[in-house]
Amino acid sequence: MNDIDVLISEVGPRDGLQSIQSIMPLEAKQAWIKAEAAAGVREIEVGSFVPPKLLPQLADTAEVVAWARTIPGLAVAALVPNFKGAENAIKAGAHKITLPLSVSETHSQANLKKTHAQVLEEVRKIVELLETLPADERPAFEGGLSTAFGCTLEGAVPEAKVVELARQLIDLGCDEVGLSDTTGYANPTQLRRLIKLVWAEVGKDKLTGVHLHNTRGLGLANAVAALEEGITTLDSSLGGLGGCPFAPGASGNIVTEDLAFMLDAMGLRTGIDLDRLLMVREIVIAALPDEEMYGFTPDAGLPKGYGTGGWGVAA
Ligand code: ZN
Repeated sequence: MNDIDVLISEVGPRDGLQSIQSIMPLEAKQAWIKAEAAAGVREIEVGSFVPPKLLPQLADTAEVVAWARTIPGLAVAALVPNFKGAENAIKAGAHKITLPLSVSETHSQANLKKTHAQVLEEVRKIVELLETLPADERPAFEGGLSTAFGCTLEGAVPEAKVVELARQLIDLGCDEVGLSDTTGYANPTQLRRLIKLVWAEVGKDKLTGVHLHNTRGLGLANAVAALEEGITTLDSSLGGLGGCPFAPGASGNIVTEDLAFMLDAMGLRTGIDLDRLLMVREIVIAALPDEEMYGFTPDAGLPKGYGTGGWGVAA
């Protein structure tokens, strides 16, 4: 990551597609991923190893992972809900696997049908499996702390619980933890505080990324707060695909195009070519004509005379 300042991790093919009814054909997923990697996006979460019965939108994840691995320089990430999913992700060749652990146990039961203890047992088994692999075949393993900023079922989530679960995930052998604002409840002050609390518990190198949603319009404000604290990886989704069923007009994840423009305009290097990134959108729109795509930069265009790597005239 020496030649970039911030890693934008595209999660649209997973978080976006799992949140909509339409099923994107494999060829369209491939065209999307290929074009976005060519625009300079270096990490893409391409799917989730959940049973096809639950999420038919992501039934071809193993194929997508195996194919995406052939794109030079692209880190291929996948979500795994359990040990079985991790086995399949490893078989397909994912570079990175993320297992979500919902800090709200009610949400965990509703979502994964598992208590915290049961999820942590899956984590233990996955680490055991990873340890049997040669180092160059072992994917990075992240524990994603979802509903870390509040839960639609439980409401407020105690920060002490987030910190305690982060500790347990690291102790069990996860390489890293991530903080996920699954519900779009986070605000910048809370985000800064929680990042510092988790760092104090597990160390700065064990939390480098956050996953933000834009449900209440605070996505980019939260992204800036995280960056100023020292977070270096931000998840986002092209066109904010997925939206939010509770907040019409709100994108799902923060919008990749807006995030990439903001960082570039701030003089932060992401490795992304903005003009090429804005064109990727056309592929998704053509494949999913019934779905709404969000984002301000794609509609407004880049500012007149926009170059790259910083914007504005210094005095
Ligand atoms: Zn999400």
